[in-house]
Amino acid sequence: MTMDKFQLRCSRCQKAMKFELKGRCACGGTLLVEYDLELAAHTLSPLNLKNRISSMWRYVELLPLTSEQSIVSLGEGWTPLIRLPRLERELNIRQLQVKREEQNPTGSFKARGFSSTISLLREYGIQRVAVPSNGNAASAMAAYAARAGMEAIVIVPQDCPGIIIEECKRYGAHTFQVHGLIHDAGAIIEKGKSEQGWFNAGTMREPGRIEGKKTMGLELAEQSDWKLPDVIVYPTGGGSGIVGLWKAFDELRQLGWLQGPLPRFVSVQETGCSPIVEAVQSGMHVTPTQEPVRSSPTGLRVPNPPDGDLIATILRQTSGTAIAVSSQEIAEARSRFGLEGISSSPEGAATLAGMAKLRESCWIGSHDSVVLFNTSHADKYLPWRPNPEPPVVHNYADLRTWLRPLSE
Ligand SMILES: *Cc1c(COP(=O)(O)O)cnc(C)c1O
Repeated sequence: MTMDKFQLRCSRCQKAMKFELKGRCACGGTLLVEYDLELAAHTLSPLNLKNRISSMWRYVELLPLTSEQSIVSLGEGWTPLIRLPRLERELNIRQLQVKREEQNPTGSFKARGFSSTISLLREYGIQRVAVPSNGNAASAMAAYAARAGMEAIVIVPQDCPGIIIEECKRYGAHTFQVHGLIHDAGAIIEKGKSEQGWFNAGTMREPGRIEGKKTMGLELAEQSDWKLPDVIVYPTGGGSGIVGLWKAFDELRQLGWLQGPLPRFVSVQETGCSPIVEAVQSGMHVTPTQEPVRSSPTGLRVPNPPDGDLIATILRQTSGTAIAVSSQEIAEARSRFGLEGISSSPEGAATLAGMAKLRESCWIGSHDSVVLFNTSHADKYLPWRPNPEPPVVHNYADLRTWLRPLSE
């Protein structure tokens, strides 16, 4: 098979196939986009990047679109990477930086994933799109769908922060709350797929989202002059952030722009729902959280990630690890970030909390350079409720009373 500009390859069985809007291989593995990097390098180089647009679309050769006309952008990406000298001294660490992902449109890094996904769906002529979410994916999808003139349906848990729910409504999405967790919302969307004719844009259901998130890694490398840090710390839920970062470095290494080992990848989760941490510590496969979920309503609360084994493999391959932090530790880290002038979401603050624990145990040494990802800002999580509240649904039949099938 001769290679197109890009194709799909299964991360599990390694089978290559033509590009399509598909997230899973027949073997169950996650399908990742594979580019003709030799072709990409004809127009893309470290030098000519200097003159490009300050958004994630500066890396257009490494994003899976056929035409640049399809791009749906609200100015996402190219977020600042800043140093935290006071914390470096306090924690006795050579270099500590934070990537300020809260500065993205819709206030979280989810904007990157949906800029690429919605662009891709536009290229395929899709008009109606649905997503199960803990919150930030819902509001990001709602915004990009609005920008593209698509109809959006979002379903979030009932304890999702009210301000994020309000955001979805303001972007014009059909907004529902599920009595349950993110996977219950996912089951409803799958159930309604044929009747409602919507595309399920959930985590790892199509190849676009990981690609958008990948641009965080491309940027980190470019902003670091193509010399990566020793450790990166990422707050992990569904896991496409980790996969995206790893894929970015892998592609840059194949392009020959990076030397040396990959950074050690660290996933941070919250105590009470930490399937990745359990798998990494036990050396076993990732299995759905068995105990009742007790963690806070954040993007980290994903008891059954779609391809947990891929995340665990990346953590092991890079000599990384996974660590759980408590809601108390997260709250303290949020205050500490605040004293540096940084507004952090619980997820973003979890990276500081996890890093401090790993420094204490000397897993991170004084000679290491570390990058944290502040994936969202604090204000979205303030206690406030929309009025009226969006409808609460238990199953697809409930949702159907609000959103009749297209044919009726
Ligand atoms: C979704 C989300 C995460 C988790 O990212 P994944 O890519 O799903 O692992 C972390 N932080 C915030 C703020 C999020 O919205």
